[in-house]
Formats: sequence, C-alpha cells, structure tokens
Amino acid sequence: MQIEPNSVVTLHYTLKDKDGNIIDQSDDGSFLYLHGAMNIIPGLEKALTGKSVGDEFSVTVPPEEGYGHKDPARVQEVPKEMFQDAGDIAVGLQFHAQSPDGQAIVVTVKEVKDDVVVIDGNHALAGVEMNFSIKVIDVREASEEEISHGHVHGPHGHHH
Ligand code: ZN
Repeated sequence: MQIEPNSVVTLHYTLKDKDGNIIDQSDDGSFLYLHGAMNIIPGLEKALTGKSVGDEFSVTVPPEEGYGHKDPARVQEVPKEMFQDAGDIAVGLQFHAQSPDGQAIVVTVKEVKDDVVVIDGNHALAGVEMNFSIKVIDVREASEEEISHGHVHGPHGHHH
C-alpha cells in the first residue's frame, strides 16, 4: 500500500547536513511514525506521501519545511543566579524550559560569562538544511486507537 494519511510507516533514514556530515540516523533500523499527524517535519511528510514499501529516495528539506529559521529573540542572557548549580553550567549543556508562550522547549547553553549565561531556545536543527536518505520498510493502516491518539502504539500494544 502507498503512504497516505493514517498510515503507520516504518523507515530507515540517514540525515546529513549540507556538508555531508551525519546528524542523525535510525538506530537498528526502525523509525516508526503515524503519517498525516504532524509527528514528523512537513518537508519529510510531503516527500513520503505516495511512497510504498521498498522505495528508496533522497530529499532535501529546507528550514522552512523543517524546524524553521533561527529566531534571534530565542537567544537570551540570563543572570547566573537564576541557576541553582551555577558552577555546573557549561557550554553545550541542555535543559528543559518553558517558552514565553508556555511551550516545553530544550534550551542549549551557548556561552558562560562572569555574571550571565547565554542560552539558545532554538531547535538544534533550526536554520539547518537537512538531507535525508530514506528507505521505506513497512506501511500499514493505523488502528482507530492510534488515529484517535495521534501517534503509533508499539508492537506489543504497549501504551505510553
Ligand atoms: Zn496512545
């Protein structure tokens, strides 16, 4: 069957940046998602629509169809005393925070100065051109429960 809304898709993928460095790949082969439920980025979902088991292809997803462009307003200086364990703060450290509009976001420490810490609330892949190599491994119809939840349930009926 072809991939369409409410398909459960299993695929292999490798994600490279524009210089060919591997950013991410499916471990042990199975990345599983519910098609048409915005579980993956729009550019990838668009490229997968209509594909079938065994199809292999590459697709370049620009930031506007991926994680968007970097928003300079999401890079902020925060007073060091806001952190409980300021001594442990190091560049590259990530932690969970809340954006001003209440969304859960991951924040990355960009710079540690004397009195302030520079944090970046942009997605790590914001502004990045993503080059995917995809192989479609399996396509099946989603169950009614999966459709109503908007995500895939595991092979043993595990519910999270
Ligand atoms: Zn569920």
